[in-house]
Amino acid sequence: MHELSIVMSIIDIATKQMEDAFANEIEEIELEIGALSGVEENSFEFAWKQAVKNTPLQNALRKIHKPQGLATCLDCMIDFSIQQLYDPCPVCGGHFLNIKKGKELKVKSLVVN
Ligand SMILES: [Zn+2]
Repeated sequence: MHELSIVMSIIDIATKQMEDAFANEIEEIELEIGALSGVEENSFEFAWKQAVKNTPLQNALRKIHKPQGLATCLDCMIDFSIQQLYDPCPVCGGHFLNIKKGKELKVKSLVVN
């Protein structure tokens, strides 16, 4: 499952940063998961619950930011909000888009103890 490997890498990143800070517990983790990142919310939730057991993230408070999709059409140069990665430009129907927002998938911040 795609989401499980994402969760595993988040745990890796968070654990490494915690160790670098000589901490032994993660109190809070802030994630950025864009609307166009391809992460399915329910699968992510399920994978998270399974994967964080017995890791430093087990009791961490989790905050998720979900940036909405924003694209620029390279044909007519308008900006528009995009729901799905392969949506066309609503003005000219063009498919040459520059995705400016919404593909984020990252650990934004951690609070360790
Ligand atoms: Zn266009």
